[in-house]
Amino acid sequence: MNMSAIHALARPEVPALPAYNAGLSSQAVRARYGVSEIARLASNENPFGASPAVARALVDLALQVGTYPDANCSALRAAIAQRSGARPEEVVIGNGSEDILQMLCQAFLSPGDRVLTQRPAFGLHEIYPRMMGAQVEALALTPALGFDIDAWCEALAHGPKLVMLANPSNPVGCMFDADEFARLLAAMPPATLLVLDEAYYEYARTAPGFPDALAALRAQQRPWIVLRTFSKAWGLAGLRVGYGIASDAALVQLLDRVRTPFNVNLAAQAAALAAWGDEAHMVHAVAETVRRRDAMAEALRAMAWPALRVAPSAANFLFIDLARPNGPVNEALLARGIIVKPWKEPGFESFIRVSIGTPEENARFLGALAEIASAPA
Ligand SMILES: *Cc1c(COP(=O)(O)O)cnc(C)c1O
Repeated sequence: MNMSAIHALARPEVPALPAYNAGLSSQAVRARYGVSEIARLASNENPFGASPAVARALVDLALQVGTYPDANCSALRAAIAQRSGARPEEVVIGNGSEDILQMLCQAFLSPGDRVLTQRPAFGLHEIYPRMMGAQVEALALTPALGFDIDAWCEALAHGPKLVMLANPSNPVGCMFDADEFARLLAAMPPATLLVLDEAYYEYARTAPGFPDALAALRAQQRPWIVLRTFSKAWGLAGLRVGYGIASDAALVQLLDRVRTPFNVNLAAQAAALAAWGDEAHMVHAVAETVRRRDAMAEALRAMAWPALRVAPSAANFLFIDLARPNGPVNEALLARGIIVKPWKEPGFESFIRVSIGTPEENARFLGALAEIASAPA
């Protein structure tokens, strides 16, 4: 069967979807560029890794893998609910928070429904709505690479069915503050479902003005869900656990109907519970990462690279405008074993996103950029 025939069998939304850009693997870069030391700075992973309690929990689990996991994630939901001031029935757990993004789109979006988001954004904020046939409107950033709150308020007033809003934003790192969040909420019609993606919450929560979103949302009537993840600050990206805290149990029950019954595996549940129990490990990793991020931003701004710009970031990465096409710079970085994420969307082909890594990785990245800056073009 040829490609057009199989495409004709598919739901019309599917062949038109862009592929998710997961980037290059370390092995692929080693093989293609012949470099041995790789600095992985493309996926916003945590260089501190997970709490040592996670490894102990996984060892204990090794003899239990023949049993199905708890389909309701009861222990993990209870632990998250307790610390977040929610009821367990208002908490949903996913195979990564991307799983919850998919459940939300499957449960709430029909062909033609309108979804509002920002561009550039996390790829799945647009891909999953389009998978369901929804119409996605994506708002631009301000010239200073921040949220355009006026444009958001105006677009919200037109009543999208669902809003995909990330605070801080990925890939930019920009955030809106508590006053701006209040303006956004006031502009939102009562029937709009707000999906607030706080994947970088733990990095941003100590930034001046960062909103206490749960408190603000609980003080109003619109339906909402706040998404957070164990992949970033908690160091569990490889095991895939994310969670959502919803406005009410009925929303979670709808997600329960569309998710796969055992969506969070045994190891993921045990690891997340162990990580959650060692908050001090996470807090230390976050504080150190924030320090390294600010030092890296300062070093970049001081670099002899004409017109280079660094977007202010409240997350564990920096979005950098190189003021020249990112392709050749990315190639030169890969040749030195450094993997970052070059942005490909129209208007952002001069940007790269770099995650904050170990001090050695960060120094290698800065050293490589300095070399590239002084190389004859
Ligand atoms: C990393 C990321 C996620 C996905 O996290 P998982 O829990 O690993 O699926 C979701 N949203 C944003 C904005 C992210 O950057």
